[in-house]
Amino acid sequence: MRYLVVGAGFSGAVIARELAEAGHIVTVIDTRDHVAGNAYDYTNEHGIRIHKYGPHLFHTNNKVVYEYLGKFTEWVPYQHRVKAMLTDGRFVTLPVNRKTKEIVGEDNVIDIFFRPYSKKMWGMELEALNPEVINRVPIRDDDNELYFPDDLYQAVPRDGYTTMVQNILDHRGIQVYLNTPYDKRKSLAYDHVFNSMPIDQYFDFKYGYLPYRSIRFETCSLPLPVALPSTTINFTHDGPQTRVTEWKQIPFHGENKYLTTLTFETPCCYTENNFERYYPVKDAEGKNRDVYLKYKHETPENMTFIGRCGLYAYLDMHQAVNSALAIARNFLVNNKVNT
Ligand SMILES: Cc1cc2nc3c(=O)[nH]c(=O)nc-3n(C[C@H](O)[C@H](O)[C@H](O)COP(=O)(O)OP(=O)(O)OC[C@H]3O[C@@H](n4cnc5c(N)ncnc54)[C@H](O)[C@@H]3O)c2cc1C
Repeated sequence: MRYLVVGAGFSGAVIARELAEAGHIVTVIDTRDHVAGNAYDYTNEHGIRIHKYGPHLFHTNNKVVYEYLGKFTEWVPYQHRVKAMLTDGRFVTLPVNRKTKEIVGEDNVIDIFFRPYSKKMWGMELEALNPEVINRVPIRDDDNELYFPDDLYQAVPRDGYTTMVQNILDHRGIQVYLNTPYDKRKSLAYDHVFNSMPIDQYFDFKYGYLPYRSIRFETCSLPLPVALPSTTINFTHDGPQTRVTEWKQIPFHGENKYLTTLTFETPCCYTENNFERYYPVKDAEGKNRDVYLKYKHETPENMTFIGRCGLYAYLDMHQAVNSALAIARNFLVNNKVNT
C-alpha cells in the first residue's frame, strides 16, 4: 500500500509517523519550502527565534498528546502572559480578570476588549460572529494573571517547533518533498491520500469559497535589552494592529544583551495576503459550515481530509495532533493491510 500525505504541518506529520510506525511507506509533500506548517519557526540574524506565522504557545489538558509530542522534543515549561494596552497607555491583564474589571469598569469590558478586537481580527461586528469564537477568551472573577490559566500542560519545545516536526517525520518509512503542491494526477499512484489542503480548493471552489482570516506580520529589531512588560501586548484601540510579541521573553528563544525582536500583527482577509489561510471564519448563522459540509460529503473514498484547512476547523496544535492520532489509528484498525 502506498500512502500520500499532503501537508507537513502537525496533522500531516503525525499521520505520516503513525502509518510509518505501522510499517507502511509514506510520501509527504508540502507546497512550502519548510515543514511544521503554520507552527514553523527559525532563528534570525540576532540569534532570536521567531515563529514565522505568529506566536505559537502550546497548552493543553490532554496528557496523551503532551506525552506523545514529548517523544520528539524536550519540553520547557512556559506559562504565557499577555497584557492589553489601553488607549491611554496603561497596561492591564488579559484575559480580563478581577483587577482588569476593577480598572476599566465591568460595564466597559465588552466595548474595550471584545468589540474593536472582533472588528479588526474577524472583519465582522461582534454580533455577526459565532459566540463560540468569543467564548474562547474567558472573563475571570479571580486575580489569575495567566493567559491559559486552566491548562495543566503549558510548554515550549526546547529546540523549536520546526525541529520537533522534523523529528516526527524522521523515520525510514517517510519521504518528504518540499516545494511540491498537490497534483490530482500524481495522487492516482497512491492507495489513500491524507489531505490537509483547503477542501474548497480541492473541489475547485464549485460550491463557493470558504472564507479565512489572515495576518500580515511585521518584524523589527530594536536596540533595547527588553521592550515590553509581557511577552505579548494586545492593542485595544480601533487601529489595524491587534498585538505585538517580544520573542526573547519565551524561554530558549535566544539570548541577546543588546537587541530585541518584535512582531506586530495586522489581520486581513486571506485574499489580501497571498491566499495565506490562517483562521476559518465561524459566522453566527453557520453559512460557512454549510458550504464546508457540501464539500465534505463529496470526499472520495480513498481520501481523508485532515487539519485546519481540510476540516475547516479552528484547531490548536494539541487538537490537531489529537485529531491526527485518532484519524491514523482508526484508519489502521479499519484497513488492516499487509505491510
Ligand atoms: C497566527 C496563528 C497563531 C496560532 N497560535 C497558536 C497557539 O498559540 N497555540 C496553538 O496550539 N495553536 C496555534 N495556532 C494553530 C496551529 O498553527 C495549528 O494548530 C497547527 O499548525 C495545525 O496544523 P495543520 O497541520 O492542521 O495545518 P498547517 O499548519 O496549516 O499545515 C498544513 C500544511 O499543508 C500545506 N499545504 C496546503 N495546501 C497544500 C497543497 N495544495 N499542496 C501541498 N501542501 C499544501 C501547507 O503549506 C501547510 O504547511 C495558530 C495558528 C495561527 C495561524
